[in-house]
Amino acid sequence: MTSEFLRGRVALVTGGGSGIGRACAVALAAAGATVHVVDLDGGSAAAVARALGGRARGALAHTADLSDPGAIETLPDAVDILVNSAGLQHVAPLTEFPPERFTLIQQVMVTAPFLLLRRVLPHMYGARWGRVVNISSVHGLRASAFKSAYVAAKHGLEGLSKVTALEGAPYGVTSNCISPGYVRTPLVEAQIEAQAAAHGISPGDVLSEVLLARSAIKRLIEPEDVAAAALWLCGPHTGHLTGASLPLDGGWGAN
Ligand code: NAP
Repeated sequence: MTSEFLRGRVALVTGGGSGIGRACAVALAAAGATVHVVDLDGGSAAAVARALGGRARGALAHTADLSDPGAIETLPDAVDILVNSAGLQHVAPLTEFPPERFTLIQQVMVTAPFLLLRRVLPHMYGARWGRVVNISSVHGLRASAFKSAYVAAKHGLEGLSKVTALEGAPYGVTSNCISPGYVRTPLVEAQIEAQAAAHGISPGDVLSEVLLARSAIKRLIEPEDVAAAALWLCGPHTGHLTGASLPLDGGWGAN
């Protein structure tokens, strides 16, 4: 495999301004892809696009609120690799969970990937090649208390990914989920206080007693490790890997 095996391919990464999405954008660009970096915060998307070499290397930033279908319509559709990474969390018991927060999480984490697929699949089908990488979660396969919206959305994304795999197969399009345990990103850092309040423990105990309690490996995953798996799914040896969910969960699922 040459180091720039994605030269000539165009990628679109949602949530590309931060965390796992940013690491995916960096890895895809390093492998030669032109990368569209999409984020809610235009500043962070622009900073990542600049770091990838900017317009000269084909890295372009897009500001879009993925809960707005109209904003999705403004994004590029000539895309060979779609990475759905944008996401958000809200931790609260079901009885206190704000319905508008539940709806927003479904919009950003299930409806937006669906609308993006509708946009980009015709190009992938025409090119007879495409890669869809959905950043799911261990919570796409398992549940945790106080995360109703997130668990429901990730289970939905896993199903959407499998349907994409079935419909895309005749056109050389694969679709897979990467389903990590806890990754060292702003999303997890923001959760520590919320989890402490929900479980009635100190923030210091959240990592060992809540977040990593079911993981055999007792440390956070690095975003670059998730990005390496995403890159592998776009490589030349994974054309038969589709409709799958790759658990980067430190042994959580074995427990
Ligand atoms: P992150 O650093 O917070 O990144 C999430 C990104 O999504 C941010 O760039 C955020 O933009 C963007 N986003 C949120 N709402 C949006 C909206 N309405 N429109 C457009 N973009 C929006 O978190 P992360 O940990 O990298 O999360 C990336 C993905 O990995 C998520 O789908 C998450 O569920 C999944 N995941 C994370 C972990 C983990 O432990 N970190 C584990 C498993 C799965 P702003 O920064 O501008 O708000």
